[in-house]
Amino acid sequence: MTLDLVAAAEERGIRYFLISFLDLFGVMRAKLVPASAIGAMARSGAGFAGFATWLDMTPADPDVLAMPDAASLVQLPWKPEVGWLAADPWMAGAPLAQAPRNVLRRQVAAAAAQGLEMRTGVECEFFLLAPDALAVADPADRAAKPCYDQAALMRRYDVIAELCDAMQSLGWGAYQNDHEDANGQFEMNWAYADALTTADRHAFFKYMAKAIAEKHGLRATFMPKPFVGLTGSGCHAHVSLWQDGRNLFEDVGAELGISGLCRRFLGGVLAHAEGLCALTNPTVNSYKRLNAAGTSSGATWAPNAISWAGNNRTHMVRIPEAGRFEFRLADGAANPYLMQAGLLAAGLAGLASKADPGPPLALNMVTEGHLADARRLPLNLLDALRAFEASGPLRAALGEEFVQAYLKLKQQDWAAYARALSAWEVETTLDV
Ligand SMILES: [Mg+2]
Repeated sequence: MTLDLVAAAEERGIRYFLISFLDLFGVMRAKLVPASAIGAMARSGAGFAGFATWLDMTPADPDVLAMPDAASLVQLPWKPEVGWLAADPWMAGAPLAQAPRNVLRRQVAAAAAQGLEMRTGVECEFFLLAPDALAVADPADRAAKPCYDQAALMRRYDVIAELCDAMQSLGWGAYQNDHEDANGQFEMNWAYADALTTADRHAFFKYMAKAIAEKHGLRATFMPKPFVGLTGSGCHAHVSLWQDGRNLFEDVGAELGISGLCRRFLGGVLAHAEGLCALTNPTVNSYKRLNAAGTSSGATWAPNAISWAGNNRTHMVRIPEAGRFEFRLADGAANPYLMQAGLLAAGLAGLASKADPGPPLALNMVTEGHLADARRLPLNLLDALRAFEASGPLRAALGEEFVQAYLKLKQQDWAAYARALSAWEVETTLDV
C-alpha cells in the first residue's frame, strides 16, 4: 500500500513538500508545495515547463507532470518540516521516456522480467571548499599524503557528523566516513540497496551534502577533478544481482568467489565501457580524472584502461570479495539514475550475449599497464559520446528517445566547450 501523503504530513508535522526530479544533466528540479495541496499533487503531479530544464524539450510540448513517489519520502534532517519526494516525470499521460528516473525504472523492470534485482552501493567522494570554490576550505589541510588523515577529518567533524547523523536518522545504514586522498576531499558510506533506492539516496545525498556544507559556510562539490594536481572525485559502485533473497554473483567455490553469471554481467560492462563513459563520466572535466597524470599524493585512483582484477585498485573493475564487483569508472558528476541504468543495461546485455570478460589481470595497471592487452578508456567526452552513439546494445536497452535527447544535449555541451578559449590555448598558441 502506498503511503498517504496527506496523513503523513499531519502525523509528522510536514508543512511543505519538495516534489523533485533530476534532469539529464543531473540538476535537481523541484516545486515547493504546501501540505494543504499535497493530496491533489499526489494524484495529478506537479507541473513543470520541461523545456526550461535539461530534458531536450520545446515550449510547444505539453506540461511535464512530476508524479511524486510516496515511498521515497524523506524529511529534510536539518529542516524536518519539509518533506522531499523523488518524482517520476510524465507527459501526455505516459512516463516521459528521457527522464532519468524513468530510464532507470525501465532497466529495473527489464531485470525484474528475468527475475533479477541489481543491488548497488555507491561511494560518493566530494571536496569541501571555501564558498568562492577557489581553494580547499581548510588551510591546514596541506599534507602530501592526506588519505585517512585523522586531524584533517576531525577539523571538519561538525559537517561530517551532521551529515552522518542525518543518514542515520533516515535509516540508510551509514557506517563510515573518512578523509580521502586529496586535500579537502571526503567520503561517506552507507549501506547498499536496490538500484532505484540507491539512486534516490545518491541524488538526495548530493543535495544534502551541499545544503549542510552551506550551513557551515562551506561549499561541497562533486566535480570530478577540481584541482589538477590532486586526486579527483570518483563514485565507485559495488554491484550484485539478486533473486529471491539470494546473491547470484556469489560462488564461494569459484575463482575470486564470483559466479559464471557475475562474469557474464561483468563481460557486458567491460564490452560496453567506452559507451558507458558517456553516462558515468558525463562532463568535459570527467576526463581530467580519467587518464590523469600522477597526483601529489603519489596515488592514482582512477582507471585508464578497460580491465578487471581481483583485489587490485589499479583496474576499472575490482573484485574486493566474493559475491560482488566494484565498478571504479564513474565519477562525482554521474547522474545517479543514468549511472545505475547504464550499468544494468550493459550487464543485462552481457547476460544476453553470454559475454566473456576474459581472465582477471594480475598487473599493476599504473606501472605495468603497457603490458596489458586492454582497450583504453575514451580520452575525452566527445570520444565517449561517439562510442555511446555507436553502441547498439546500450542504445536498444536504454531507448532511442532517451539516447537521442541525451546525445543532442551533451554534443551541444561539447560544442560550447570547444568554442571556449582557454588560458592554456592562448599561452601555447599566441606566438606561433
Ligand atoms: Mg574513495
